[in-house]
Amino acid sequence: MRKVFILSGAGLSAESGIPTFRDSGGWWEKYDVMQVCSVQGWQENRALVTRFYNERRAELKQKEPNAAHHAIAKLQERFGERIWNLTQNVDDLLEKAGCQKVIHLHGTLRDLRCEACGHVWDIGYRAQREDERCPACAAASVRHNIVMFGEPAPAYRYIKRAVDESALFIAIGTSGDVIDIVMLASDFSHSILVDPKRKMYVTSFGSHERYIDEYFETYLQKRAAEAAAELEERVTAFLSR
Ligand SMILES: [Zn+2]
Repeated sequence: MRKVFILSGAGLSAESGIPTFRDSGGWWEKYDVMQVCSVQGWQENRALVTRFYNERRAELKQKEPNAAHHAIAKLQERFGERIWNLTQNVDDLLEKAGCQKVIHLHGTLRDLRCEACGHVWDIGYRAQREDERCPACAAASVRHNIVMFGEPAPAYRYIKRAVDESALFIAIGTSGDVIDIVMLASDFSHSILVDPKRKMYVTSFGSHERYIDEYFETYLQKRAAEAAAELEERVTAFLSR
């Protein structure tokens, strides 16, 4: 049975008003990235990091999914398990669009996690309280559920499964800085890249003289929402063949 592996990144949610790390004028003028997104920063100042994620979670309440989130939701509704829906985003816009199954590679803003027993639970858009306790084991050591720099990302195991099981790879709005989408694409005869801006492929060995899109079978040089209808058509055609 043919399957499709969709990997999305910040570009998917950018049009819904969720800023990326690299956007200037966003949160990063108020906060230092390594202060709020690294294990070291967390160890140094848990209150600051908790406040940061409380603010992000509260902002999420007003955000709406765009055409690209809806396209993925429709594909999932139509093809079910044949769509691997992996995202690097920590927002809940795919869920808001109606996706039943989303694998969040870097965690989720709405959830908290117990450091004692590992239990994860949804608190919606409210702030984590100072006296927050784990509903499963009552421990008081509770944290946000975002993967920080310097700690493992257990959901990455699904990338391997998605690669093994799929015949088409689609990368939407991901710069490839964290997950090497060129390496992933090279495993596929069929691949689609959605990104409005052409980017050079950079590896740990330095910059290659080729653009990332050159490693993909098809390049849609569009923003995610603009490409949504075409993506939906292409995936539907591919899985109906
Ligand atoms: Zn617990």
